[in-house]
Amino acid sequence: MRRKDGRPFRAVRVRMRPAYRDLPKDYGPFAPFGDGSMLFHTGRFFACAAACTDDPRWRMSLRTRRDRSIVLNGQIERGVARWRDQDDGSYVYIGDTRPVRRAGVLAIIDQSLPQTVAAQLDRDLPRFGAFYAARLGALPSPPVLFASFDSKYADGWGRQGGALPGQVFTHFYGERWSSEMSKPDFAFDLSWHFAHETGHLYQHGLSSADKSGSWIHEGAAEAFATIAMRDLDPATAPQIDARIALARRSCAEATERQSLAEALDKGNYRAAYSCGLVLNLAIDQAIRRSGAGQDGLFTVWRRLHTDQRGGQGVTAQDYAAAVKAVAGSCVSEALVRTTQTAGVSLDHEIDRCV
Ligand SMILES: [Zn+2]
Repeated sequence: MRRKDGRPFRAVRVRMRPAYRDLPKDYGPFAPFGDGSMLFHTGRFFACAAACTDDPRWRMSLRTRRDRSIVLNGQIERGVARWRDQDDGSYVYIGDTRPVRRAGVLAIIDQSLPQTVAAQLDRDLPRFGAFYAARLGALPSPPVLFASFDSKYADGWGRQGGALPGQVFTHFYGERWSSEMSKPDFAFDLSWHFAHETGHLYQHGLSSADKSGSWIHEGAAEAFATIAMRDLDPATAPQIDARIALARRSCAEATERQSLAEALDKGNYRAAYSCGLVLNLAIDQAIRRSGAGQDGLFTVWRRLHTDQRGGQGVTAQDYAAAVKAVAGSCVSEALVRTTQTAGVSLDHEIDRCV
């Protein structure tokens, strides 16, 4: 964009309708709530005049009706907010929904969600948060849960969920959800989703250094969800087993002719979840069987947090080193071997160690 007279702009003003957009690799800029509230993602508004500097910061300000709440970084403001933003940004809430504080969690749940779903969300996040905090350490500030439902969204239907530092969110869009939410598996899927995303928060900012290692943080979040759900909701055991069996099948398919590392490098991101679950559960089981720690996989992540303090992304070597320190060299060597070999059963070799 350029001024007709070639001189630099002093300001650019953009007006836009706050609609949900499905972005393939990013969280959407807006999540409209059915009850009239709104989430917006600050990161979608980060812009630099030319190229961004290495560690850019943005001055943000927000003005709304004086009686409306603004929830920003776990704090509740009224009407006006000013802050500095950086990194990936975060979701900011604007609306009239009263945030609920429970067991150290701040929850903002769309009033237009069915009562059963709202009640489940209200129950799940504090439980998962407490479960992980006991094993991986508390978060620096209380996590915030956002759940929104835009039934008026006209262009299809879907769900986008995720986690940003200190925040877990899920946005349901499309009328179809009104019937989907009453299906028998919905409650289980929703719990799993929140157990997985909350699990990311307690990875305390650690994620894999590259694409080929995405099985580390995604697979561990899947394994955390498995362990948490088994413990907190024993009645869901058959659904959990079915989910693991499905992961095993889809992982075997993804790694039939190429190694897991290659599959991930080529962009088969689903393998990070399926194979990552199989591998991380095998590590968990090996640790528990060997008596090296009743906390299984969580022991590896505590170790990782100590090793990586203030560090960069976790490499496959970092992860193998933490596994070795907790579970021994047989498990860590089997882990490295299987992620680099095609056509092997990923957990079989780890299982043989203990
Ligand atoms: Zn994830």
